Amino acid sequence: MQIVDLRGKLLTHKTKRYSTRKESDIRSIAIHHSLTVSGSPEAFATYHVNTNGWPGIAYPYVIQRDGTIYKCHDHNVVTYHVGNSNKHALGICLVGDFRTQHPTTEQYAAAIWLVRKLQQELSNAKEVKGHSQYPGYSWKACPVISMDKFIADLVNGVQKGDDEELKLTDYQWKVLSLNIQKLLDQKVITDVKWLEKVQLRTLTNSELNWLNNVVVMRLT
Ligand SMILES: [Zn+2]
Repeated sequence: MQIVDLRGKLLTHKTKRYSTRKESDIRSIAIHHSLTVSGSPEAFATYHVNTNGWPGIAYPYVIQRDGTIYKCHDHNVVTYHVGNSNKHALGICLVGDFRTQHPTTEQYAAAIWLVRKLQQELSNAKEVKGHSQYPGYSWKACPVISMDKFIADLVNGVQKGDDEELKLTDYQWKVLSLNIQKLLDQKVITDVKWLEKVQLRTLTNSELNWLNNVVVMRLT
């Protein structure tokens, strides 16, 4: 996992500063989503400073949809993210609006990895809670994902989904799509579902293996 250090590099307020605490004051790790379909630490910092008038970005950590982890503050900085609980909570924000999106596989795995690492480093950070589980925030749709599942995954490890997920680059998906189109044109295969699956990027490893097998058989 990759942590990109943005401490001291993001926009801060001209005069206001966040207060500090001892790391031992941190009792919980708070999970947020950004409530925006896309975003970045830079964008959140700008919004929190210029629109909200806060001293700096609210999140010590931001996890991008590609799984990159950004560290934005030292752990002893008390940022604004869970109201009265700020002093005792460390916030992690996953980029995305989880009312309409899911965390990506990479992003979710990065979040699990980061929380594990933080809990090893911060011995008093025993609890892991969603934003809405903090006092006064039950109305808040944050982070929407199931925290029961998150905690189970934290303990048990993320289910690996066997070999199912096919990890290809944009270019590889494009080539695969062109190749399948060719096979359809040449009537080596006839089921257009194959092309649909590639276009939707839902084709799995075992399906691709099966397809390879079929194609090899029909061409020999
Ligand atoms: Zn939140």
